[in-house]
Amino acid sequence: MSEASIIDGKALAAQVQERVRAAVEELKKRHGFVPGLAVVLVGDDPASRVYVRNKGKRTTEAGMKSFEYQLPADTGEEALLERIARLNKSPEVHGILVQLPLPKQINPDRVIDAIDPDKDVDGFHVINAGRLAVGRPALVPCTPLGCVLLAKQAKADLTGLEAVIIGRSNIVGKPLAQLLLRENCTVTIAHSRTRDLPEVARRADLLVAAVGRPELVRGSWIKPGAIVIDVGINRVERENGKAKLVGDVAFGEAKEVAGAITPVPGGVGPMTIAMLLVNTVKAACMQRNIPLPRPLAGL
Ligand code: NDP
Repeated sequence: MSEASIIDGKALAAQVQERVRAAVEELKKRHGFVPGLAVVLVGDDPASRVYVRNKGKRTTEAGMKSFEYQLPADTGEEALLERIARLNKSPEVHGILVQLPLPKQINPDRVIDAIDPDKDVDGFHVINAGRLAVGRPALVPCTPLGCVLLAKQAKADLTGLEAVIIGRSNIVGKPLAQLLLRENCTVTIAHSRTRDLPEVARRADLLVAAVGRPELVRGSWIKPGAIVIDVGINRVERENGKAKLVGDVAFGEAKEVAGAITPVPGGVGPMTIAMLLVNTVKAACMQRNIPLPRPLAGL
């Protein structure tokens, strides 16, 4: 059997970003406004800082307004809630994202609950989770949205596929299950208590790993020809003492068996930010009650 084709998340993310740029241009011309995204970071976690900086950069590259708030690590919950209340009211801000994880003194549920669901571009609010579950228009979490587009690069119509998702988090596994149901897949969600995980994984025509365990999924777990989407981002030490990023899938083994596979890095990661930009335009259009610009049709 030939090697898997590599699904290029960087290239797809660049295409999506270009469509967002064109959509923003259209909004400016036809409706005279530019969508704005506010990103709030509490504390100085270095990885979060990098994410926030990248999000801001991509937002402005797409022609939108970016508002960044870096709050000190000892910020209290009330102060953060006040900041969110102001952003909820601001007519220039159409999307609000609070970078997780938050410091211990802040309850993330209270923070997510405080974001206006129509500005909740992360799609973590219970109202959006509920809308997604019952099939109403919703702001949907970015990483699962990216996973579906990546899978469709390998097979445009996912109807009827056996999909197995390893991981049941609220930010990846559960919303992805809803999206794949919408795509007419037969969906299994596996987790740390699943019996005989390799056997369950081998059933999958579409296997998604969203676990956070470096190279948990071996080549022998993969059905020949399957589409494999690797969400995991794990920093591991190399023998030379330097760190490298690996996914939840043993890529070298998996590409010998799979039909198509996403790499880490360069797979799901870039798509997450691209879908955040899409969600910001969607949120802006919903708030203004105008249709989604044509360049974003189908996204
Ligand atoms: P969580 O820790 O919230 O969830 C992990 C899930 O994996 C849980 O459902 C857990 O099961 C399950 N799990 C843990 N160990 C095993 C095991 N040995 N066998 C089977 N299932 C297991 O993680 P997230 O969903 O937030 O993230 C998952 C990974 O994806 C991480 O590496 C994260 O860094 C990455 N990520 C990447 C993003 C991107 O943009 N590329 C965005 C978001 C996340 P249980 O529920 O039983 O505990």
